[in-house]
Formats: sequence, C-alpha cells, structure tokens
Amino acid sequence: MNRNNSQIYNAQLFCFTIAFHRLTKLNCRNCRSPLDLHQPNQNQPDQFLYTCPGCDCWFLVQAIAGESHATVVQLPEMSEIRPPVPASDLTS
Ligand SMILES: [Zn+2]
Repeated sequence: MNRNNSQIYNAQLFCFTIAFHRLTKLNCRNCRSPLDLHQPNQNQPDQFLYTCPGCDCWFLVQAIAGESHATVVQLPEMSEIRPPVPASDLTS
C-alpha cells in the first residue's frame, strides 16, 4: 500500500542536447519565445529550469561539468500525463 497515493505515471518526454554556449539564448521549441532561466536549487548548480513566457511550458536542463553539451528535457503538460494501466486491465 502506497501511503502517499503516488503511482508511476506515463508520459512522452521530448529530450535534446545543446551546446553550452547556446544555453544563454535558448528559445522555446513550441513558440520560439526567448526562455526565462531559473536556478531553483543553489546546491545543484548543474541543474536549472527554463520557463516560456509565451506558452508556459517548462524545460529541465542538466549541464554536466567537463562536457560540451547539456541535456534539455521538455516537461510534459499535466494533461499529457497518463495514469498507469492496472495489471488487471492488461490480462482481460
Ligand atoms: Zn513557448
């Protein structure tokens, strides 16, 4: 029994890599608006978040020291996240 009622949900994630020097001028892949950079956790300087003022989407960025590229993950909209299919539905 899961005490906090959480489950593993399913969503498609769009990921790409980008050269570090391009991170300062990143535009939204949906609407092309310049993205706003946020550093929500000062203890994790290699991870940050971009938000789009145009279409409100979010991008999570992981920049690993010593590498020339960062990984960018566009976070899904809540409406795009699907609950898991119960095992009982898979067998019927
Ligand atoms: Zn956008």
